[in-house]
Parts: sequence; structure tokens; C-alpha cells
Amino acid sequence: MGPVPTGPGDILDLIRHGRATTRGDVLEVTGLSRMTVAQRLDALLGAGMVVEGETGQATGGRRRRSLSFNTSQSRVLAAAVDTTHTRIAITDLGGAVLADTEIDVTVEAGPSEVLDRISSSMVALLDKQDVTPGDLCGAGLSLPGPVDPVSGRPSQPPILPGWDAYPVAEHLQADLPGVPVLTANDADAAALGEYAAGHAGARSLCLVKVATGIGTGIVIDGRSYSGADGGAGDIGHVRVSPNSEALCQCGMQGCLAAVASGRAVARELTALGHPVSSGRDVGELLAAGNADAARLTQQAGRRIGEVMATVVCLLNPEVVLIGGAMASAPLLAGIRETLYRIALPRATRHLALQLGSLGEDAAVVGLTRMVVDHEFSAEAVNAKLR
Ligand SMILES: [Zn+2]
Repeated sequence: MGPVPTGPGDILDLIRHGRATTRGDVLEVTGLSRMTVAQRLDALLGAGMVVEGETGQATGGRRRRSLSFNTSQSRVLAAAVDTTHTRIAITDLGGAVLADTEIDVTVEAGPSEVLDRISSSMVALLDKQDVTPGDLCGAGLSLPGPVDPVSGRPSQPPILPGWDAYPVAEHLQADLPGVPVLTANDADAAALGEYAAGHAGARSLCLVKVATGIGTGIVIDGRSYSGADGGAGDIGHVRVSPNSEALCQCGMQGCLAAVASGRAVARELTALGHPVSSGRDVGELLAAGNADAARLTQQAGRRIGEVMATVVCLLNPEVVLIGGAMASAPLLAGIRETLYRIALPRATRHLALQLGSLGEDAAVVGLTRMVVDHEFSAEAVNAKLR
């Protein structure tokens, strides 16, 4: 047991994480007096952060009222940047997508141009939905590269030329006055999204995103783990084939991404007469049942499984999810084949290895969760209601 939570923010935290769903639960979990709990809840109800409803359970003739986090009190604006396109969405605070749009913009155009395009699409989407910056509790943006956890800026991203240390949040804030903007790595955001949507009990979860690049997001005890420099899980540039001539986007040879990413599979497919270039293109061929795409993707999965075996032995996760544009049965089969063969049985005994359930929404849902965790932390809420 930690210290007894006392402020309204601490009580909101219990409600938001499902540890208290009635006044009785709050009394029991906190040990606070009935009077104090009533005052704290009045403050939360008055601020619109919590809503009361009927539970349906009756005790002694009286219906017990349920307490829940008010997910419609404000909105989150999220942008999931991929190498060739960006998905922009307005969500409620529970991660439900209320409106979305997609723009084709390649990250190689550089941060200034890409973020200008994203910014104007964000503003247009807000206008179309009649949402003002004042209706937003925050905005989030994910990038296909490491993000420094302290500065929130790209941290030597291997496939984002010109983006290193670029002030991404500040750039977006120019069009979103007063709105906090958070940034994250795309696989980290997707892992947090899948965690929030379907695996909230898991102590440790990984998501390997296989698209044009390859990266892993890690969630431990409900929090994204990004490492000292934002590089945790960036497995795409581990040099699995030092003697391979396959050139990676990062400039090195023999990286996992050089032999097993969507870009690598696209190159092989092109050589076989299916001219494609991105992970998404490969995903479309997979969805259409193309046999070459399935075979080459399964082969890529075997290489990814070799590296994931080490990840699994290091973290002993309960859940490993496969996400990204190439997430498919052949990819899962390939990863499963080598991961289970190489990893220690103890590390895989209770492992659930499966495809993610949110598809392209994973990063958007994760960004919402990240913004909500930040803006409605016990500390932030106690400060707001003081
Ligand atoms: Zn590389």
C-alpha cells in the first residue's frame, strides 16, 4: 500500500482506472471519512470530470450510483504520422474516434513542411466539426522514430532526415494556442492504445509495429517505457545480418529493417513484378491474398521473431501484439515460428502472441490515453481544483 490518497485528483485516479466505481468503493479504498469523500466528489462532479449514473444494483432498497470518468467533457486531437501518410483524429477522452481524416505526406519532406500540412489539416478538421482549441484538453502526435522523453523532440531518428531535435510540439502549438501538445514514438503510442483498449490488466505488454520500418512499443505497469533517450524498443536497426549487402534507410547495412521491413519486402515484391514501395502497399497485397506477398511477409516475420525472442526474454511480457500495416496472419506465423523456437520456454509459457485489435487506430487511441494520463493525473487535477 502506498500513501493514502487524499485530494480529488487521487480519487479521480481511482475512478479512471476502475479501482473505485461507487462512493462505497472510494470510502473503502481510501479510508477517508464519508464527509471528506463527499467534498472531493462534489468538486469532481462540479468540474464535470466525473459523472454519476445508476449501477442497477440495489442495496437495501436504494440504488447504488455508479461513478465514472466523464469522457465527453473535452476532446483530444491526435495525429499519427507514418512514413507516407498521416492520420488525424478528434477523439473523446476514452479514445473513441469522433472524426478523422488522412493526408498523404511523406516524412522525407522534412519537419517544417510535414508539420505545416498536418497543422492546416488539423485546423480544417476542427472547423468542420465545430470544435475550438478551447474544447481540447490536449493534442498528441506520434512519429515513426525515437522521441526524447524529456524534450519531446525526435532523438536521432534513423528514417526521418532533418527531424533530429526539431521542436515538433512548438510548431503545432502555433495553430493551437493554449493547447498542450505531447509527442511520442509511433510504436509506443500504438502499444499504449492497445493496452488501454483491451489489455489494461497486463503488467507488461509489447507491440511490434511492422510497416515501412520496424519498431517496438513497451508498456510496463500501465506506462509507456521509452528508455533513457527514447530508443527503447527501436529494434529495426539491430544489425542481424552484418554481412548482408541490403542497405537500410538509416545508411547502414544488414539492419533488421533492411531485410524484414515493409520497405524490404516491397523491394523483393517489385523484383517479382509487383511494383510497390511502402509497408502499406504490401499490406494491400496481403489483404488481396497475393501469394508472393504472404510468403515474403512470413519470411520477414521469421527474421523479426529472432529479434523479438530476445525482447521477450528481457521483458517476459504477458502480451506481445503485432501491429502496423503488415500485421497479418503470415507475419504472425513467421514471428511465432522463430520466437518460440529461440526464446526460453519460461519466457513464453504464459505469453499471448497475437495481432493487435485496433488496426490503424492504435496510435490515435494511445495518444489520447497519453494526453488524458498527463492532463488528468492526480497531481494535475489536485492543482486545477485547489
Ligand atoms: Zn538501419
